Order: sequence, then structure tokens, then C-alpha cells
Amino acid sequence: MRLLSMTTRQMITPQRSLAVTLSLLIIILCSFGGAADSATVPLTITLRPAAADSQQRVPYVDITLTFTAPPVAAGAPLLKIALVTSNVETVAKTIEAFSVSDAVGPVDITVKDDPESGEVTYRHWVPSRPTKGTLTVHYRAPISNKAAPRGAAPPLELRSDSGAFSGAGETFLVLPEADSSQPHFQPIEIRWNLSDMAPGAVGISSFGNGDVTAPLSKDLRSLQSSFFMGGKLGLYPQAPPKTGFFSAWHGTAPFDLRDLMISEEKVYAFYTNFFKQPATAPYGVFLRENPVNAGGGVELSGSFVATFGPKTNVDDLKITLAHEMLHTFVGAIEKPGGLVSSWFSEGMAVYYARLLALRAGQITPAQFLEDLNTTAGRYYTDAMIATPNAEIPARFWADTRVRVLPYDRGSMYFAVVDGEVRAASGGKRTLDDLLFAMLERRREKPPLDESAWVDLVTKELGEKGRTEFQAMLSGATMLPEPGGFGPCFTRTTKMLRRYQLGFEPKVLTEPKRIVRGLITGSAAERAGVRDGDEITQPVPQDRMQGDQEAILTLKLLRDGKPLEISYLPRGEAVEAYQWIRTGNLPDSACVF
Ligand SMILES: [Zn+2]
Repeated sequence: MRLLSMTTRQMITPQRSLAVTLSLLIIILCSFGGAADSATVPLTITLRPAAADSQQRVPYVDITLTFTAPPVAAGAPLLKIALVTSNVETVAKTIEAFSVSDAVGPVDITVKDDPESGEVTYRHWVPSRPTKGTLTVHYRAPISNKAAPRGAAPPLELRSDSGAFSGAGETFLVLPEADSSQPHFQPIEIRWNLSDMAPGAVGISSFGNGDVTAPLSKDLRSLQSSFFMGGKLGLYPQAPPKTGFFSAWHGTAPFDLRDLMISEEKVYAFYTNFFKQPATAPYGVFLRENPVNAGGGVELSGSFVATFGPKTNVDDLKITLAHEMLHTFVGAIEKPGGLVSSWFSEGMAVYYARLLALRAGQITPAQFLEDLNTTAGRYYTDAMIATPNAEIPARFWADTRVRVLPYDRGSMYFAVVDGEVRAASGGKRTLDDLLFAMLERRREKPPLDESAWVDLVTKELGEKGRTEFQAMLSGATMLPEPGGFGPCFTRTTKMLRRYQLGFEPKVLTEPKRIVRGLITGSAAERAGVRDGDEITQPVPQDRMQGDQEAILTLKLLRDGKPLEISYLPRGEAVEAYQWIRTGNLPDSACVF
């Protein structure tokens, strides 16, 4: 069971070809005569979801964007959307009925894609004549409900079920080419036109309920990292407040979602208190079903989305929710940032989601232990445990055993540091103090840099703090002390079996999944999987990896005939560290 919630994000960084950069330079020179323009430009986005079909699925959302920007020259990029973001295909290539008009009339547009690269690549829309005055952009974003065509991916894409749709802005919003030389798009207005939907339909986003004007601190990037949900929704509280906790969901879970959200509101209150960050804006929790990797989630701007499925265990999901919420309070190391810095954001989220849930009384010590041992079991049996941190970004999406490392290694590293800080300070200080110091550093002098952590941990623990951090990055096994998780638990070892898919893991991320590199003697081979078999349905693995008993089922196509093969994806048994309850202390004494 548990815990990978697909949360590590690749930062959206503009990757422009030289030609585009040059043309952008030309626009600046043409339109502003070289002078900087600090004007702000209001931007309005109207979402008009279609009526749900007989399957209760919303087939598309019509999007209208209006803004008055300085003229854009013929041939210069006007609008863009990423082609793929965090391994999720956006609507870029499926958009219909795209049109742009301005004060003169319709504007002819051509599309231009960035060359493929390892970074985020964009589709750009380029006008054939200079634009003038207010621009109105209209298009239809179809909702395909395709299941994770690129393999493991966070739940960001447009999806629909149960008379509602949802998705993150970065997967369906075509936005003006944002650049430091452009005016600020402010204020940003979100408008909902629900007239085609069934009566009672609701439109809600990370910015709040219904039609809203985003606070002036919000920019185009926060639109991309916001979630939008419309149609027949569950809400808690029923009337979402202007500031503080709200939640919205569609679909049916095997447990009461409203009860879960009542409990989640308490976690939010605990976090605002613990992090001394009182609510000044709406804080949204979005839930929806996930047919591939149920139980995962991803953090967004002032909000997060988590997913459930017919077999989701509510106690497991509670820790995922605590994890995602933790991200929104702790944030990430911004320099270097991205996946290479995810040891911090994911390690902190795994470590503190569990610990704060225990401190808040949301989980029992027994549940704490179970979650800890899931992480420990997955980490200490991981055949890729020694992968250097620098190699993680390139291999993250391709291999589940690499993908879990920032989570598992990061959280064990923080447990090691916590033990050392407590020992060095005679119990006066803990990892909490270092975490608060990091947040303080970001407030005082953003962006938050990796060296800030190195400075802090070296100041706290001496040179050992630095060398241990370097060892963690180079792939050394992180092992907390036997008493590293409070007074109730101690360390032991147990024979556990390594996760073994049984063939080349990269196959699962390819557009056509054809098995290759079958390992002789593996459970996959013994169960009958063959090189050349086509896997017709995406395979979730991240949680499975932490569960010694989880069975993997492959839906295959061989010689044109479908077949299904199930097996226990485990290889050799190795001695792995686990923690057990010790002594006779009451549950209340286990909090640390
Ligand atoms: Zn996470």
C-alpha cells in the first residue's frame, strides 16, 4: 500500500528557440521603442463546460480569453501552452475551433512547436499580421479521458465523470506568451458560464468559488498551477468561504468523502498553527477518481488535488492528503529546483505528513508505524538505492525504483538529521527548528537555495552536517538510529523481497508498450509474460513497490489475442530495516 503520491513537479521553464527569442526582441523594439512598460493588463478567462453526455461525461470545455496587450508583431509568438507538463499530455494537439480576433477583426494564426528537448516544450500561436487592441481568444478543449498515455503521471489532465470535469490550468489553458518584458496580466478574472450544464452545477477553482478576481499577487504562472472543477460537485463546507479551507470533489468513493474533508479541515487548522501561517486566501482540496494510480495526488497553487479509486483505503489516503497539504506549506528548494531538489520537498513531505498526523492525533502510533515501515521496506529493498541524486531527473519517469528515491531517501535523511540535532542539543532542538529556519530564509531572501540547507545543517552539526548531506546526494544509504522515531519504536531487520517488474521498466512509459528485456527466472517470466507482448493498459507501480503482497496484473495482447497475466513482482529477499513497537508506553507517550 501507499505512498507514492505523484507530486514532484518539473518547473515550467520557457524553452525558446533562438528564432523565437529574436522575434520577441523585435516586438519589444517595435512596440515599445525600447522603453520598458510597467502597465498592467486585465485578463479574463471564461470557462463554459458542455452538457454531460448519457455516460455523465462532459465532452469538452469552451474557453474564452480576453486581454488588451501591446501589439504583437506579425510572426511573433502571441500565445502558448506546454505540449507535455510533468509527463502529462496537455490539450495542445487536440484543441478545436481555435480563433483569435482583435479590434481589426479575425487574426490568422499559425502554430509552431518548440523542438523536442528534455525540458518543457511549448506549442506557440503566431499571428500573420500585427495585433491591435483587445484580443479575444476562443477554443474548445476536448476531454478524452485517456488513461495516462505516457506512464506514471500526476492527476493534472482534464478528466470527466459523474457529471463534472476537472483539470489543472497548465494542461488546458492557452495563455499569452509571458515574458519579463511584457506587462503584468492583472487582475486575472475567472468567469464560469454553466448555462449548458444541468441545474445546480458549480464552478470552482484554486482561486475560490465561482466568478472570482484573483489577488494581485497572482500571475499567469499561478493560473497554470491552479485546479478547475465544474459541474455536479460535492462541496465541504457547503458554502465555500472567501478565506481558509474549502473542498470540492466529483465521483463516488468507497468511503464518505465529506467525513474525510471534515477531518482534513482539522489537519489544515493544525498546519496553519504549526507553521504560523494563518489563512489569508482560500485554500482548496480537490478530489477526483483516478483509474490508473488511485490514491496519489499533487500540490498546486494554494491547493492540491488527490485521487481515489474503488479500492482506496481511507487511512492511506489521509496520509496522502497530509503529504500534499504539507507541500503547500513547506514548498520546495527553488535553486537549483525541479526534480534534482525533490529530496527536500518530497523528503520533508513524507517525514512530516506522518509525524504531524501523529502529533495532531489524526493517526494512531500503530498507523504511524505501518506507514514508516512501508517507506522503510520500499527504501531498503530498492535495487536502485545507490543511484546518485544527480541522476534522478533523467530516470525519474522511466523507473519506479528511481522515482521513489527522493521520497524514501529524503525522508530517511531527515530522520537521521533529526536524531543528530536532538543528540547535539541535548534534546532542546529538533528538525522542526531547521525547517522553520528554511522557511524564514525563503521569506527573507527568495529564492530558496540548496546552499541555505547546507549552511543550516553545518551550523547545527558542524562539518559532519555537510559531509552527510553530500553522502546522501551521492547515494549513500540513510539509516536513522534505532530510537530515531521516538520512544515507542525501535529498529530491527526483516527479510523482505526486492521489487522486480521482470522486464525493462522503461517499456511502461512508451507510447506502444512492447515487453522487452524479460528477466530469465523472474516472476514475470514464470507467470508467462513474453518479450514482444503488448501491454494494453497502463500499470501503476509506485505504491505496489512498498507492498510485499501486491499482485501486478498485466493486460496483454499477443498474436492479436488479449490475455491477462498476474504475478507477485518480487525478486531476491534481502535484510531490510524495519521499526517495531517496544516497551509498555501508552500511545500518548509515542508523540515526538
Ligand atoms: Zn509529494
